[in-house]
Amino acid sequence: MNVKIIGLTGGIGSGKTTVANCFSTFDIPVYIADVEAKKLMVTSKVLIRQLKQLFGAESYLDKELNRAYIAQKIFSDKDLLEKMNAIVHPKVSRHFKKWLKKQSSKYVIYESALIFENSNTNHFDSIITVTAPVEIRVQRVVERDNSTEKKVKSIISNQLSDKVKIENSDFVIKNLDLETTKHQVKNIHFQIIELIDSGQI
Ligand code: ATP
Repeated sequence: MNVKIIGLTGGIGSGKTTVANCFSTFDIPVYIADVEAKKLMVTSKVLIRQLKQLFGAESYLDKELNRAYIAQKIFSDKDLLEKMNAIVHPKVSRHFKKWLKKQSSKYVIYESALIFENSNTNHFDSIITVTAPVEIRVQRVVERDNSTEKKVKSIISNQLSDKVKIENSDFVIKNLDLETTKHQVKNIHFQIIELIDSGQI
């Protein structure tokens, strides 16, 4: 039986990784696209070469990605950001497919902030969106990343709205109190198993 792919998305600070970790407690394998992309950017020789071609040799400091330099480059040049995505996303996609082949669970979770923006949603058997009020998300990220309210709000304004994400999702998790979130994850986990077992997905 082929392993089903459940997409998990939501805006910055909504709690995607927190929710993904809750799914892990049911022995569901989790693929965090952003984490894997960051790893691939420092391990894949092909990717390193392509990124150096795009941004210049300064894009790496020793073997580490020069994040500040790249962030400053793409901040003022949307075209460059698109070019970077066009290099990184296919690589992550291939890496995910290889990873998927090694999994033997009924389903896996693919977590990415940009499922609706960057992926073909037909690749997913079901999609879950994590939500929380903007003010709470801003506060969480400011604390987690030592960032500023202004920076986080500017990222949020560049992401697709929760309204659009919710309309296009099969499940929505309201991530406020952690215990309630765990309860929602448990319910959704069993619903997904039921959908798989009955052949509906
Ligand atoms: P990003 O888009 O930046 O990757 P994310 O959506 O994956 O963020 P998390 O990293 O899971 O969000 O959560 C953001 C921060 O908020 C973390 O520090 C996390 O511990 C905290 N957090 C998440 N959910 C809750 C919650 N229900 N109660 C309290 N803190 C929470």
